[in-house]
Amino acid sequence: MANILEVKHLSKYFKTPNGQLHAVEDVSFSIEKGVTLGVVGESGCGKSTLGRAILGLNEVTDGQVIFEGKDITCAKGKSRKDVRKEMQIIFQDPFSSLDSRMSVSQLIAEPLKITGLVKGKEAIDRRVSELMDTVGLAGRYKLSYPHELDGGRRQRIGIARALAVEPKFIVCDEPVSALDVSIQAQILNLMDDLKKERGLTYIFITHNLSVVKHISNEIMVMYCGCMVEKCAARELFRRPLHPYTKGLLSAIPVPSLHVEHKRILLEGEITSPINPAPGCRFCSRCAYAQEMCRSSAPEPLEVEPGHFVACHCISEINGI
Ligand code: SF4
Repeated sequence: MANILEVKHLSKYFKTPNGQLHAVEDVSFSIEKGVTLGVVGESGCGKSTLGRAILGLNEVTDGQVIFEGKDITCAKGKSRKDVRKEMQIIFQDPFSSLDSRMSVSQLIAEPLKITGLVKGKEAIDRRVSELMDTVGLAGRYKLSYPHELDGGRRQRIGIARALAVEPKFIVCDEPVSALDVSIQAQILNLMDDLKKERGLTYIFITHNLSVVKHISNEIMVMYCGCMVEKCAARELFRRPLHPYTKGLLSAIPVPSLHVEHKRILLEGEITSPINPAPGCRFCSRCAYAQEMCRSSAPEPLEVEPGHFVACHCISEINGI
């Protein structure tokens, strides 16, 4: 299937009083239409910055974002507005991302009015009702305000707002991490159903490995701003190849007394993303680090079909 999104050598740096913070460093990947790409990594590894840079919410420092064959990296004015209809975001915290002075109906109608996609009070009202129905929000909440609803219902408003402009691609930035576990499953199932019904493509950003396993077709692992591994979700959980991914997955608890579970402890300091030294950013915590790891950063290589890993010693570590 054709790629809907290609990201080429994308970097995003921020100026800080202590130097330049390399939040995202030379990340390249592509997503086919209808696929969910899970992006995982520790807090502060650059996942959300990457999602925002793809959408143009953060100006990129270097690299390209190509959506449906069109370079949108520097899109401004009308072309950016057109792209916004196609690419949407669902935020982590449904409470702070919604204007508390607006009712549910006003919140869902807002993107319709801004984009001019639906005109006239009655047509907008009808569309709001349809969207509420799509995301499982009862019509009686139309005049309610966000503070009157629970987290799950607030997140349903966020999803309805994203769907209002009929996008093709959605960045879901930790959309369930602020919700109770029981509500998380409902929202994940809703998102999965919507994806199938509407042929949506998601980038699903999370630090929760169980969630990413449940929802993703492919997974990209990030460490300190860099992509370290990317492959099909099942393959990543079956046979992780990068030392960081191995450590990350070994932290998932196994709910059985009969299965021997070996936890890999990642010791050492996390590399600072401010003016980082050349070389592999995982060096200070990697049990396999060698001299060359300290001087040159590994490029992601396709070590098996569709399986990309950025590590100099991938063959020695995995015997491939
Ligand atoms: Fe470890 Fe070197 Fe591979 Fe980095 S490049 S993960 S330091 S072995």
